[in-house]
Amino acid sequence: MLTEVSSAALTISFVITVALYVVTYLSFIRLLRYPRNWRPPSLALSLTTAGLVTLTVGYVSVSSDGLDPVALAVSAGIIAVLFSIIAAPAVAFRPAPRWVEFLARHGDYAGLWVLAPAIAAYAALNVKLLGLLAAAVAIELVWFLPRRPNDRRRLYPIVGHDLAVLKAQANGDIEGFARQHGIDELVLSDGTVNWRGCAKETLPCPFNLYINRLGLNTAPCCREHMAELCHYVASCLGDMGVVHWLEGGTLLGAVRENGRLLAWEDDIDLSVVLDDARTFDSLVAGLAECCARDGYYVDVFKNKRFIAISYDPPGVWPFSWGRYRMRGEIRLDLAVYRHALSYGKPVLERKILKGAMPLTESGGYGVPREVVLPTSTIAFLGGNIACPNNPKEYLRLVYGDFGEVVYTYVDAAAAKTRCRVADSPRHR
Ligand SMILES: [Zn+2]
Repeated sequence: MLTEVSSAALTISFVITVALYVVTYLSFIRLLRYPRNWRPPSLALSLTTAGLVTLTVGYVSVSSDGLDPVALAVSAGIIAVLFSIIAAPAVAFRPAPRWVEFLARHGDYAGLWVLAPAIAAYAALNVKLLGLLAAAVAIELVWFLPRRPNDRRRLYPIVGHDLAVLKAQANGDIEGFARQHGIDELVLSDGTVNWRGCAKETLPCPFNLYINRLGLNTAPCCREHMAELCHYVASCLGDMGVVHWLEGGTLLGAVRENGRLLAWEDDIDLSVVLDDARTFDSLVAGLAECCARDGYYVDVFKNKRFIAISYDPPGVWPFSWGRYRMRGEIRLDLAVYRHALSYGKPVLERKILKGAMPLTESGGYGVPREVVLPTSTIAFLGGNIACPNNPKEYLRLVYGDFGEVVYTYVDAAAAKTRCRVADSPRHR
């Protein structure tokens, strides 16, 4: 009888620990959406996550016999190491210390390193510790396994300008360069260079490393998916009757590069303007419905009036937040403008700064209404798409002299090497 009671109690302890770890993990990966979007983490969510970590570690290490220092050290240590691995790809969206870059590079399988202490805990027979590790191992396996093997990746030849840039950055030794930086996508055979491309069901190519740090051109697979995403979202907005236009670097590509992406483009920028008939919430609802139907992920930052739409499928909530562990992302940033008056002139106003866009009277950033409305169209990536009424004036307001090639967000050293390869459409 006594044994039955204690085995039931053990099962309950195990289940509670698993539940605590799962909730803590979800809260933590939810937090990663902020660094991935270049925003400081939300204070409320940070405190919640810290509280959940404390609760989990406390539950595992305190029993009726008092505090178990070994369980405390092991559970706190495991969570610290595992969460560092999980956070590394999001933290490395900005230049990060070498150890973070290292963890980011190995992040899709490094979590499986907890298998070893899990086996040790099994031997030690601490049921709560076992629950913690079982939950962690299960989550890491679910993160790792569906994306293996990599045979769904199609090969794209790297030629022309892409190849010239790659050769310049590799200083002639492409094989050594690929090995040094862990570029698994590069396939070299018989003098040809190919790229093992990303697809909807694979992890995306890690943009930050390849484009921003190493100064390579955007991979052909990613360019293809960006074009698809751009036209897809524009058609959703068109169907919803929402006024939209190409924005920022994407508009710059359309104008300066004759309807192409900038060679180092890492996202698509579109903008919309709200009016009396269209609120922010109804815009989000319409986009969410459209994107859920066709397998795109929508992330909303309401107080910044900003929506990110990604090429990867949404997945099952809340486990879809696992996507915040990815090293890259094929994404479209949708800035939401509103009509406003600034110093007596009608403007379209946004909350987040874009380039050198002028400050408005109310503290936002804006462009004169007539520069954007009524929108015009421009040829872009094999189709026509809405653009500001006066795209050149728009670009001048955002970038100044936009005819000059400036390697925005490419690392300074990589940009210097890149200058040796001409980056103008004339030389393609
Ligand atoms: Zn790709």
